[in-house]
Amino acid sequence: MRIVVVGAGLGGVAAAVGLHRAGHEVTLLERAAELREAGTGIVVMPNGLRALDALGLADGVRGHVMQAAHGGLRDRRGRPLLVTDMARAQREIGAPVMIERAELHRSLRAPLPPELVRTTTPVERLEPDSAGVTVISEGEPVARADAVIAADGIGSTLRAQLFPGHPGLRRTGRLDLRGMLPRPPGMAPDLLASQLVDRRSGAMFGLFPLGEDRLYWFTDSVLHGPPPDAAEARRQMLSLMADWHPLVTALIEATPPTGIYVDPIARLAEPLPSFAFGRIALLGDAAHAMSPDLGQGASQAFEDAAALCRHLARHLAGAEPADVARRLLGYDAERRPRANRMMLAAARQSRLTSRTGVTAWLRDTLLRAVPSRLATRQLAALWNA
Ligand SMILES: Cc1cc2nc3c(=O)[nH]c(=O)nc-3n(C[C@H](O)[C@H](O)[C@H](O)COP(=O)(O)OP(=O)(O)OC[C@H]3O[C@@H](n4cnc5c(N)ncnc54)[C@H](O)[C@@H]3O)c2cc1C
Repeated sequence: MRIVVVGAGLGGVAAAVGLHRAGHEVTLLERAAELREAGTGIVVMPNGLRALDALGLADGVRGHVMQAAHGGLRDRRGRPLLVTDMARAQREIGAPVMIERAELHRSLRAPLPPELVRTTTPVERLEPDSAGVTVISEGEPVARADAVIAADGIGSTLRAQLFPGHPGLRRTGRLDLRGMLPRPPGMAPDLLASQLVDRRSGAMFGLFPLGEDRLYWFTDSVLHGPPPDAAEARRQMLSLMADWHPLVTALIEATPPTGIYVDPIARLAEPLPSFAFGRIALLGDAAHAMSPDLGQGASQAFEDAAALCRHLARHLAGAEPADVARRLLGYDAERRPRANRMMLAAARQSRLTSRTGVTAWLRDTLLRAVPSRLATRQLAALWNA
């Protein structure tokens, strides 16, 4: 079957490789001039790793399993609120992978023959008819396909075309900063794999190991006014976090503004009514853009890609149009409930970590009472749900 994948982000590349390996005639269209992923670190949760396994793509990333003894939530001084036993979580659920985005993307796209990829091809719209779909870029038809996978990311043009009544994205009113840096010699491991929360400001700081000798940090705080540039955002964050655990400000200070990524956080205002639209399926952030609070966006995209490959497997060339549409409805029925649950859980987690005042005090008191075993079990339920 001829399948066009629109968008060569993490989700689109994983889907393109899986569908190509399943014997389909795949074309991957990307608006950028080259295939690359910018940014800092990314966590691939055990469920995402299982999906990559199903696509035959896990081997390249398994070497980046996160090494940390404990994780969970702490207060701004680093005192534990909710402790997760990472060793137990790894035994029971599997291990998350912590990897640089560029490296993950490189590893996923490595098996893709270059002749299947067309860069500098911004897809404007899709024109479906009874026999297939015509893909339009810059006013011209650039491809004809039996099925199209819309993997064009959080600002998806194709989502807006397919669901014109959908309200699209909603800003959460929060700003995210991220950086990577070498691990300071002799640094104590206590805060690794933890998120620190502050009940006065509702700000959050997360810290993860990136291999043995580097660190990945991220913060999340209320966005006042238009998003500042990296230098100004760093200055504001240092002032906001001046009395946090000393490691927090030390790490932000040690990261030059040129190495800091700043993003106003957005997510889908409402779940989509369907991930399938005739011969077209949506995948990844195009289908279920969520806030990054659970580190699940990419893992859900990998689950989408693995499910698509299953539903389109053994597809006969020249099959009836209704058959393609029926299979994509099967993909929608499998993926939409779970991905939407995850999107709502991420929004809940965002509300939980950003609380201030009395409700934040109540949160901290309740979290301190949760045994580590239960926290680990809840994590397992989320990853396996
Ligand atoms: C601050 C932050 C931290 C995050 N941390 C994590 C994490 O730790 N773990 C995790 O799992 N997720 C995380 N996420 C979410 C994760 O980054 C996304 O869910 C994931 O990258 C989505 O992949 P995608 O392929 O759907 O979209 P994208 O990666 O956005 O890819 C879309 C691609 O489509 C291309 N494109 C767009 N429009 C067109 C068009 N019209 N025509 C052709 N090409 C087009 C784009 O150029 C791009 O290459 C985080 C997100 C943010 C904002």
